[in-house]
Amino acid sequence: MKEEIMEIALKRGFIIPSNEIYGQISGFYDYGSIGAPMKRRIENAWRKFFLLRDGVFEVETATILPEIVLKASGHVGHFGDPLVECKTCKKKFRADTLVADHLAGELEKAEGEHVKRLKEHLSRLPGMKPEEMSAKIKEFRIKCPDCEGELADVGWFNLMFKTNIGPIEGNPGYPRPETAQGIFLDFPRLFRAHGTRLPLAAAQIGKSFRNEISPRQGLIRLREFTQMEIEYFFNPSNDKHPKFGEVASQKIKILTRDSQAAGKDEETEMTAQEAVERKIVPNQILAYYLARETQFYQMMGIPYSDFRFRHMMPDETPHYSGGNFDLEVKTSFGWIETIGTAYRTDYDLSSHSRMSKQDLSVFIEEEKKRIMPHVIEPSFGVDRLFWCILEKCYREKGGAEGRDWSWFDFPPIIAPFNCAVFPLMKKDGLKEKAEEVAAILRNDGFNCYYDESGSVGKRYARQDEIGTPYCITIDYDSLKDGTVTIRFRNDGKQIRQPISDLPSTLRKYKKEGKVTA
Ligand code: AMP
Repeated sequence: MKEEIMEIALKRGFIIPSNEIYGQISGFYDYGSIGAPMKRRIENAWRKFFLLRDGVFEVETATILPEIVLKASGHVGHFGDPLVECKTCKKKFRADTLVADHLAGELEKAEGEHVKRLKEHLSRLPGMKPEEMSAKIKEFRIKCPDCEGELADVGWFNLMFKTNIGPIEGNPGYPRPETAQGIFLDFPRLFRAHGTRLPLAAAQIGKSFRNEISPRQGLIRLREFTQMEIEYFFNPSNDKHPKFGEVASQKIKILTRDSQAAGKDEETEMTAQEAVERKIVPNQILAYYLARETQFYQMMGIPYSDFRFRHMMPDETPHYSGGNFDLEVKTSFGWIETIGTAYRTDYDLSSHSRMSKQDLSVFIEEEKKRIMPHVIEPSFGVDRLFWCILEKCYREKGGAEGRDWSWFDFPPIIAPFNCAVFPLMKKDGLKEKAEEVAAILRNDGFNCYYDESGSVGKRYARQDEIGTPYCITIDYDSLKDGTVTIRFRNDGKQIRQPISDLPSTLRKYKKEGKVTA
């Protein structure tokens, strides 16, 4: 299925391989004329749902950071992946993926006790040190997948791109590997600008850069990608969320540490409230975000049955972490992490205080003392979510609707175009009337597609292929009585509406998510 979706995504201009005419470099994709408006709408839906509703401030920080910042954050020393080189052909591979792929292959052939042993090996891979991985490569006699050559010892490869700031060498800087750090650096000013009170939350949407060893799987592993991150700063002696009551009964599915330790791939469903009471989630703030993420993903068209939160195991989490939960989506590539929600404690602010020699702690009036704020960080990847939406909203041709074209069932709030406008024919003033209707909608802020080429049937099919929820056709009756037809994407049925009502009607449909007549 992923091949077909990729084909449509490329053909219709959702995405375009960057630098294509020079031969694509893997790990980079452009968003085309259909994908860019959709990506923007996903970001806007997120902004509305997580920021505007909750009074979270939005910032935009520099993408190039000096080395000292990333030394403080730990990225210079520890942000990398294990790398292994073939002694013969000199090709380089990500060692953990290589070992995992090999073990998965063995597992398919294995029986009895051997299955259990292989599963144990697989479960121990995350967080494994390079020496241990070298030992695994020897133990399982893993060879170069390209030339069967012998592999060298596993080394460590830092994932940051490196540059030099200014004309004089020796002033290293890095395109940021995550958007979060800029928010930590701005924290003192944000705190002072907004009443010197906690909790305080700030967020940003922007590009991050990671020099992935072997980018693959399209939008899943990129070298340049968009993140949407929130840093929620709070006083650790008050880890309640003011709006927790709104989500306390929201059900969430967690693959608990206990389940994983027992080698089980079974999630436990519980309410956000239960997750806190059972101490599976460390506090209300983190549970609040898991509940909201659950709601947001469903709004984006990802069915509840197809995602879960994996509580990361202790050996996968940094020493300072108070708990990390990955939202994973079941995709045709397997379970893919698309959001990481982490309790970062006071690690970042404390590290930046030490390195910058600036005190980033804050005075708490009620307690008459200074504290270092703690942080909960939900970190969303836009590109992975974008891909998951394509997968989950894809409807194959010949399905229940009996169409001979494949189409996308996007929620109207994120469909690339709000609507399309067609004249039934180009003659008799229909074209002019259709242009007039398109102009009314565009002037009112609608992203409206105008099409007059080919038959109306073909135009409907082309809009279905890019998930446009409403197609408006101007026919001879339109010239007489000022009404048009609105065709609904999902059932292909049509209704008639006065042109004067179109903007308010379409706005109402979008809000309700109406996709059938
Ligand atoms: P992390 O900081 O690794 O937990 O990443 C947070 C989120 O950023 C992930 O859940 C992904 O959605 C996204 N992300 C991280 N690395 C990549 C990548 N190489 N390509 C695309 N998205 C990524």
